[in-house]
Amino acid sequence: MKTKRVDREKIRSLIAEEAAYWDSTDTSEMMDITQRVRLEWTAREDRCKRCGGEMEKRQIDLHLAGERLILRGVLLYVCRTPGCGSTQLPLVIKELAERLETLVQETLAFQGISSPEPVLVREEPPPYGNQAP
Ligand SMILES: [Zn+2]
Repeated sequence: MKTKRVDREKIRSLIAEEAAYWDSTDTSEMMDITQRVRLEWTAREDRCKRCGGEMEKRQIDLHLAGERLILRGVLLYVCRTPGCGSTQLPLVIKELAERLETLVQETLAFQGISSPEPVLVREEPPPYGNQAP
């Protein structure tokens, strides 16, 4: 079996050359051409917030404003971990539901109609089958 010799002197020389380059190079100009990018952390919606497990997609009907408004076939994440049972709406749908709920409540108040119980969302089991396509 042949062994490959490592030329340590050559490696030391390359490292010294690299170090000399960076020691004598003004990096401030390089900083000027770079752009700072702000990355925002967002939670993965397909991961369970309770146990970290994988979520599966289902469809539900969301009943808002005391049954006055129904959003049909809305996406819902259901945790696959046995015994967890956690569910979560995608953030965009949750925010939409909250805004619609508020709008209906305000409209009813304007019309002088007593507003329904402020139950934000009632989730029904999927009439469409278990999983979204
Ligand atoms: Zn879970």
